Amino acid sequence: MKRVAILGATGSIGASTLDVVARHPDRFRATALAAHRNVDALAELCARFRPELAVIADPACEDALHERLAANGAGCRVLAGAQALIEAAAGAHCDVVVAAIVGAAGLQSTLAAAHAGKRLLLANKEAIVMAGGLLAAALERGGGELLPLDSEHNAVFQCLPRQPRAADVAHAPAARTDLAAAGVRRIVLTASGGPFRGRTRADLAGITPAQACAHPNWSMGRKISVDSATLMNKGLEVIEAHHLFDAAPERIEVVVHPQSIVHSMVEYVDGSVLAQLGNPDMRTAIAYALAWPERVDAGVATLDLLKTARLDFEAPDLATFRCLALAYEALRAGGTTTTVLNAANEEAVAAFLDERLPFLGIAETIERCLDAVDSAPATTLETILDADLTARREARRIIASL
Ligand code: NAD
Ligand code: MG
Repeated sequence: MKRVAILGATGSIGASTLDVVARHPDRFRATALAAHRNVDALAELCARFRPELAVIADPACEDALHERLAANGAGCRVLAGAQALIEAAAGAHCDVVVAAIVGAAGLQSTLAAAHAGKRLLLANKEAIVMAGGLLAAALERGGGELLPLDSEHNAVFQCLPRQPRAADVAHAPAARTDLAAAGVRRIVLTASGGPFRGRTRADLAGITPAQACAHPNWSMGRKISVDSATLMNKGLEVIEAHHLFDAAPERIEVVVHPQSIVHSMVEYVDGSVLAQLGNPDMRTAIAYALAWPERVDAGVATLDLLKTARLDFEAPDLATFRCLALAYEALRAGGTTTTVLNAANEEAVAAFLDERLPFLGIAETIERCLDAVDSAPATTLETILDADLTARREARRIIASL
């Protein structure tokens, strides 16, 4: 029985994870559930899944959660505050941690799970973009393993050779393969292109949050939906792939594939290209990572290739969707530059969703912020948190001026 802590339980990834967990009561048990401040949704999940621990990150919601749990009889231990997320990730109640908090708020609990030697199922890409080096070091020290939930990275992981059995990876993150020794030429990440594929800059000027969040293929939280619309999601994923697979930026390519059926590919030196295909449903990646190295039913429909009929591929438009180019630049610059990129993006996306910043202002804010904030070596958590704070302050100043 694998005991699973789900951080971000009330979100889109949280819901998909709990769906897979519920299909296999003989294999998986949700022992900790954590959320930000949606007390009603968290209390309902506790009544249904009966975890040992419920964590609400906003301490102002603690009393309300106690009341709701007393009323619905869930009777689990309750903790509140940011520190409680760390306890939820590192405590003895779990073997597996699903890091599905959105944004930098998930960084410290993700690191804590790695330090504690858990099996870390990583959805929270912002954490690895901010602190990829620290996360790798924490995994090594903790002796746990990382399995990517992001569909592209999960696909790449599935296409890489010699995936060792769990027993062999006691001291190495599962996702790490020596790419050169394995004969890998490049990693090809697919991108749907988002709701504005094919549009010009002029078309994008008056885009509203509702339009940006209407993704053609995937149903996701609002922040990642906007990231998909700007292509920053793919930019964050290039940085994520760099850290997960120890791949140089020039070995990571992005190709737009509007059907979202090919989730990503690995090309080898002999010219072979391995791809992972499936319906766009996150439960495939989640079930794979939960059960690895076994396979279990994820509740995902069979891929109907005849109905799909075509698989199209095109180059990304880096001039219109500047965010992807900015992410490559930040990755090449190294150090805390990717932390700055992420912080500026989080601030800009929040301002856009709040209707304080136009859609095209997102890339502009990030670009100006990267110019304004100096990079430092990303060697300690303090430097990274400091870069995050400085970048957010600068981004807010830029947003106010735009
Ligand atoms: P979401 O907005 O649906 O859910 C976010 C979850 O995080 C919620 O449970 C919320 O309560 C929690 N949360 C937010 N702020 C918090 C805070 N300060 N402290 C504690 N908890 C907090 O988002 P999502 O779409 O599920 O995405 C979650 C993460 O997974 C993101 O990093 C996203 O990039 C990544 N991801 C999502 C998908 C997808 O299909 N949704 C795919 C790949 C990767
Ligand atoms: Mg993805």
